[in-house]
Amino acid sequence: MLDRLDQQPPDALLALIKLYEADPRPDKIDLGVGVYRTADGATPVFGAIKAAEQRLIDTQDSKSYLGPEGDMRMVRALEPHIFGKTLPSDGRIDGMQTPGGTGAVRLALALAKKSGVTRVLMGTPSWPNHAQILSDLDMELVGFTHAGADGTADMAALRAALANAGEGDAVLLHGCCHNPSGIDYSHDQWDEIATLVKDSGVLPIIDLAYQGLGHGMEEDAYGVRKVLPAVSEALVAYSCDKNFGLYRDRVGAFYAQGATADDTVRIMSNAAALARANWSMPPDHGGAAVRMILEDEGLTADWLAELEDMRQRIRSVREKLAAASNAGGVNLEPLGRQNGMFAMLPVTKEQVQALREDHGVYMAGSGRINVAGLTTGNIDKFVSALAAVTS
Ligand code: PMP
Repeated sequence: MLDRLDQQPPDALLALIKLYEADPRPDKIDLGVGVYRTADGATPVFGAIKAAEQRLIDTQDSKSYLGPEGDMRMVRALEPHIFGKTLPSDGRIDGMQTPGGTGAVRLALALAKKSGVTRVLMGTPSWPNHAQILSDLDMELVGFTHAGADGTADMAALRAALANAGEGDAVLLHGCCHNPSGIDYSHDQWDEIATLVKDSGVLPIIDLAYQGLGHGMEEDAYGVRKVLPAVSEALVAYSCDKNFGLYRDRVGAFYAQGATADDTVRIMSNAAALARANWSMPPDHGGAAVRMILEDEGLTADWLAELEDMRQRIRSVREKLAAASNAGGVNLEPLGRQNGMFAMLPVTKEQVQALREDHGVYMAGSGRINVAGLTTGNIDKFVSALAAVTS
């Protein structure tokens, strides 16, 4: 029976890592996989995480089961960072821990489906797993263009998509640091989106996977904090894997806002049932470390300082790219106005291949680069290589 299964293509980015590792050129550049890198090309464990993990080892007295909602103290400790210090006390927002942001996205979409949502509006291109999860859940993806020609968000496309949608539809929005384009909504655009979503009756699902990597923890929550108060129901998928550097430890959270506190209780009981059927409960270790940081003022300050260093480095690479202005046929200026680790370059598959084969520059076939793969030591080489293949 299992022999009926069709061969699935390997994950393109994971295949790229293997190619990169096999490349003997000492000045090769990895702009593929989506993890933060320091100026030395490392993806270190945060000092605050190391300290929290040590405390965890010293003090944890049991690894007994927690339950499908995971570490609720962690979920609560994240709330002021996401929703603001004045989280309404009307009980309409509740959450639970998930295995990474992916688990949270999966849970949000599965819950939307269980509530009767069949169509999900989403700006494209998006993080490829969004489409994969939608397809796996047998939900229809209604795509609209995310990036306008000027390197800012295509609001006309979003307006048109929402105008043609209504009750029974959902819209999946990136809270900040759009993956793959780096193109975020401005504050004015979020203000408009909040009104448009409210008027359309569409269920907003906000994926906030990179809080703190764009303009700062507070600034990057602008969209969530604008949309949620405007609408009666909303879902938020959150990842701690980037802003705490916990990637493989899989730390995330799912939040739901119901129309009433009673609705929220019902929503969360369904989320817990879905979690139970999917993964039973999330892994604990990374989430417990996050909780220890967030419940300790000193560790929180250390973590925020480390996160700010990451953000500043990403910003400075973006500014250097923007200052280079043009690389052959590619205008790099918009990258200075965009956010987070990713940017899309208007390059063909052949140019991506030439960058890899002739210059040792590795990036996704789509033209997405991880700007954190660039350093003062290799940025000039990258710009020249890009110019060489696009001139
Ligand atoms: N949403 C987006 C937009 C992402 O880019 C990612 C990670 N690449 C995730 C969710 C999932 O993150 P995690 O690794 O925490 O599952």
